[in-house]
Amino acid sequence: GPAGLECAYTAAQRGHEVHVYEKRDQIGGTLLEARKSPYGDEELFSCIDYQKVQCEKAGVKIHLGKEVTADMIKDELPDSVVLAMGPVYAKGTAPGFDGKNVVNILDVMRGEAKLGENVVVWGNRKPGIGAALMLAKQGKKVTLVGKEKSAGFDINPSFKWRYMIFLRQNNVQAYNDCDIEEIKEGEIMVKTYDGYRFPVKCDTVVVSERRPNDQLKNVVQGEGIELFVIGDALMPRNLSSAVHDGFHIGTRI
Ligand SMILES: Cc1cc2nc3c(=O)[nH]c(=O)nc-3n(C[C@H](O)[C@H](O)[C@H](O)COP(=O)(O)OP(=O)(O)OC[C@H]3O[C@@H](n4cnc5c(N)ncnc54)[C@H](O)[C@@H]3O)c2cc1C
Repeated sequence: GPAGLECAYTAAQRGHEVHVYEKRDQIGGTLLEARKSPYGDEELFSCIDYQKVQCEKAGVKIHLGKEVTADMIKDELPDSVVLAMGPVYAKGTAPGFDGKNVVNILDVMRGEAKLGENVVVWGNRKPGIGAALMLAKQGKKVTLVGKEKSAGFDINPSFKWRYMIFLRQNNVQAYNDCDIEEIKEGEIMVKTYDGYRFPVKCDTVVVSERRPNDQLKNVVQGEGIELFVIGDALMPRNLSSAVHDGFHIGTRI
């Protein structure tokens, strides 16, 4: 993804031998899905196009379709490992989150999830907003439910208000400062942080909430290898933070 690629060419420009391992068959990370949101989000991918050229120029070796595993790290014993694996999409703990009607945002963006007519997107940061707008454009009746006090608080302020207008124009109802209390057949129960409860019609819940990714950390540390965790794996944020993390660590290794 963008964090790993930025780190890779920055470190390679400084003379390091850098290998990028990507488990999918193409680079781009979550931006492969993010660019499918409407209203110009395909532009996000120009960052990857730039990083790809920089990686080629700096001699970074990119291995596609190769998942990093504990065994691989133990076999190769590199001098440094940078974990830039993106976030974990966190299912909630409320009753019903283990149901078949709860799906992952990346599957939704790829068009691989089965959705009903009334869709609730859980998480009111930019990923949730992007998914909500895409689904509304497909004709779904979409509700956004999120813990943040204001939807899209992670969006650059000069863009945020455009997204608020797009949500209104597409009839996406946003409930902020609240959480899902229970997922039932055909509806969810929403609970606000000041104690109100109300039902929302819902056939499918889309999970867009993210949390840091701890995978492989213990293995790397256990082998005594220098370790860095960057991008959404460290703390789920956005593209500019991922690029910043990558550059920062690329100059430090
Ligand atoms: C729908 C949606 C819309 C978004 N819109 C925006 C937006 O408008 N603006 C913005 O700034 N941000 C947006 N984001 C967030 C942005 O995409 C992320 O913050 C950013 O991609 C994080 O970059 P990253 O490099 O840390 O991780 P990722 O982009 O998640 O990349 C991680 C990569 O690691 C690979 N990987 C994982 N485990 C392994 C392994 N064991 N071995 C090998 N490879 C592995 C994954 O396949 C993936 O390619 C959006 C996200 C979504 C889901």
